[in-house]
Formats: sequence, structure tokens, C-alpha cells
Amino acid sequence: MASQTGAIVQQSLNKLLGSPAFLHHLQGAERTQAFTSLGAILSTPNKIHKSFLRITLDKGEVVRIPAFRIQHNDTLGPYKGGIRFHESVNEEEVTNLAALMTLKNALHEVPFGGAKGGVAISPREFTDRELYLICKKYVQYFADVLGPDKDIPAPDVGTGEREMDWMTAEYKSIHPGQPYLGSFTGKSVTNGGSLGRREATGKGVYMTMSYLLSGFLKEHSTLMAGSSSRFAATAVELSSKELRVAVQGFGNVGSVAALQAASCQELRNKVVAVSDRNTTLYHPDGLDIPALIEWARHNRGDLPASSEQLDAAGIQGKALGREEILYLDVDVLILAALEDQIREDNVKRVQARLIVEGANAPVTGEADRILSDRGVIIIPDILANAGGVIVSYLEWLQGRETQFYSHEEIDRRLAIKMKSTMSTILPLYFEEESMTLRECCYMQAVGKLATMLYLQGKLY
Ligand code: NAD
Repeated sequence: MASQTGAIVQQSLNKLLGSPAFLHHLQGAERTQAFTSLGAILSTPNKIHKSFLRITLDKGEVVRIPAFRIQHNDTLGPYKGGIRFHESVNEEEVTNLAALMTLKNALHEVPFGGAKGGVAISPREFTDRELYLICKKYVQYFADVLGPDKDIPAPDVGTGEREMDWMTAEYKSIHPGQPYLGSFTGKSVTNGGSLGRREATGKGVYMTMSYLLSGFLKEHSTLMAGSSSRFAATAVELSSKELRVAVQGFGNVGSVAALQAASCQELRNKVVAVSDRNTTLYHPDGLDIPALIEWARHNRGDLPASSEQLDAAGIQGKALGREEILYLDVDVLILAALEDQIREDNVKRVQARLIVEGANAPVTGEADRILSDRGVIIIPDILANAGGVIVSYLEWLQGRETQFYSHEEIDRRLAIKMKSTMSTILPLYFEEESMTLRECCYMQAVGKLATMLYLQGKLY
């Protein structure tokens, strides 16, 4: 487990060990031993599957591509987690992402364990036929450990509906006559996918911020008025003003979160900046997000980056350097691109008072501490970007029942789940000034896993 995740898990275990009410049946030496066992269980994956996929490229050359499926923990149910196609994929990264899935599912009470897959390629460098072969081979090589009751993959960076459809078809041919709709999630809707899955992560990301600054504050006005927490002061201050919002990353997560922000009725928002791999676009009066989505749809997902392209797209705004999005004078910064964006070396330049982690680990541990000391609220990845896995769970359910829900029903269930987690965690956060929101979420997730491991007799 990477140091940041591992350190917070251990810190959560130490706190729980010191809370007499938690697992109170365990006392004395038995208690210490059980918590040592928990540390060992949660810091290591159950199984590491790795292989080299043998592919014949279009030009005839045979290559062997590193591929992984890492199953971290299945205490809460079958393993679940995406498959990433990216050149930086390696065993340590996939293991860490698998651990994050275990914790995310535990936090949101989704009945799955945690896993992650990866293939070390840059997908843009492969033809469609080659990518198809890579998907087929991935399923063939890991066929024994995948399945609706064992391990259910989903898309991640570099993969989408098309890859899940190909993989599901391969699973179906390897297991003829067996139910297959629950084997992969994130499939196309025509092929047994769920309505609302594509937008789920971005919607969930925005929901966390709108619920925190609107619904939660109204429902907990007494708590907030009596709280001396610097985070409560930040939330109250932000809830009373028009918010300037910036969104880093304009892909599946970022574009949906930006659209939600731009069209939100509950908060007064202006999306003043968005960015992607090439550029930052800025306009102090707000950008036309639907027009930008339309442009990106016809331009391989990229934003207009030159003044000619901005004119052609009908966008009022100016293009800045790609990194500038991080340092603009905004109230809210939604990070929906990559990991390690805000670090010790650039954190001083960040002005936002609320940061929402749509991507996994975009704020490093050091930067998190510095921002938290300044009273900046960070809604962590484990809380903010769970919409995808929540609707994946609904897709898995629908596939097993072969009964499909409407888009409205999916959105309704997603909102209920996200709000339920938020209303468990936020009171703890605003009452306990000593803990960041990330630490509160980890405490909750680790506590859930520890309780289940104890009840299942796994600590002896
Ligand atoms: P995506 O590939 O659809 O979009 C990524 C976006 O980031 C693109 O707009 C790209 O141009 C931009 N980008 C790439 N490099 C950049 C850089 N250096 N600076 C600024 N922008 C850059 O990916 P996505 O599905 O939107 O996922 C975004 C993040 O959210 C990833 O970290 C992913 O792991 C995480 N996430 C996604 C989901 C999901 O359901 N899609 C769920 C949980 C977490």
C-alpha cells in the first residue's frame, strides 16, 4: 500500500484501538493482537495476478505487455475495481488503487471488496484491432479469477464502454451457458450497461460539494453555529456567496461535474475555468459549458485551445497555460484529471477554499496537511468519486436480475447513497476539528472493515 494510504489506515487503526467503545469485546493483549492483525490484513493485498499478454501487432511483430489484476480484500463481497490502460501502470500503483477500492466500498457500504487491474500501454499508440486483442487476452489470462461472484472489473483511465463490451463478450465465450451480464460493469447501455453510469462519477463529485454547502448546512444549522472548527467557518463562508468554480480535466468526470456546477439551482455558481491536457480556459463571468462539451465531443475530447478554435466553438474566454487552472482566484477547485497535482512545491499558489478530488489522489499527503492548516476543505477521492462504483453496483444488480431501472431511478439511488455517507461523516468532521475529512472517511471505512473481519473470525 502506498505510504499515504498506508499511513492513514494505520492512524485510523491507532485511533480505533484507543476508543474503548469500538470492538469493546476485545480487551488487553487480545485487543492489541487483533489490531496488529488488522494492520497486516489491510496493508497487503490478498492476491496479485500478473502476466505478460502476448499480442501480434498489425505489422506482424509479437509483443508481450505487462498486465495485472490485484485483488486487495474481499471481506465485504466480490472484488470490484477498474482496469486501467496507461503507460505508467505498475504493480505498486495497481496495488494502491486496489486498496483504495476496498476502503471506498467500505465507506459507502457497497457490498464489494477492492481490486484493480492494469495494462502498461499507451492506448493512443495502438490500433482498434490491437486494443481488441489486448482486451480479449486480458480476459483469457485472468479468466479463472474473474466472474460475477468473484471479481467484477469496470473501466478506468484509458478504458470505457467499448473495452468492457469486448471483455464481456470474451468472458461469455469462455463460460458458455453461464450468466455473464454481471461479469463486467461500465458496459454500453445496449449491451446490458446501466443508464446513468457514464455520468455517475461526475454527478457524484458535484453532489458532495452541493450537499455540503447547501443541504447539510440547512439540516445541521445548530451544529454548524456551535462549531468552533475552522472547516465549519469555511463552509459557512462559502455557502453565503456566489462561487467561482474551476474544474481541472474535461473528460468523463470533469465535463459532467462542470455541467452540474453550471446548471445547479441549489448553489450560486459560475464555472470560470476548465482545463485539459493542453490548456486552461478562463472567463471571469463564466464559460459556456454545454458549448465546450459539444466542441470536445467532435474533437477527440479536447477543449478548444487557440483563439481560432475558441471563435469556431463560439466561446468567450481566454486560453492560459495548462497548470494555471490550479492557481486561479477561485472559491472551488474540482480536480478531475490525474494524481499528484497539488504538492508541497506548488501548494502555496493554490487559492481555492474548497477542493474536490474527482481524480484519485490529486492532492499529496503533505499538501493536504498544509491546506487543512489553512482551513481549506478537501473532499477526498474516497468520498467524492464513488458515484462510479455505486452505479456499477446497480449495473451488476440489474444484470443479475435482468431487470433495468430508468435513468431517474439510477440518479435517485445514487443521490441517496452519496447523501447517506455524507450525513454519517460530516458531523464527525465539523465536530472534531483535529481530523481532516479524509481522516474521518478512513476512520469510518477502516472501522467497518475491522468490525466485519472481527465478526467473520478473521482476527484469530
Ligand atoms: P478521462 O480520460 O475521460 O479524462 C481525463 C481528462 O484529464 C481529459 O480531459 C484530459 O485531457 C485531462 N488531462 C490529462 N492530463 C492532464 C493534465 N496534465 N492537466 C490537466 N488535465 C489533464 O478520465 P476520467 O474518466 O474523467 O477520469 C479522471 C480521473 O478520475 C482519473 O484520475 C480517474 O482515475 C478518476 N476516476 C474516474 C472514474 C470514472 O468513473 N470515470 C471513477 C473514479 C475515479
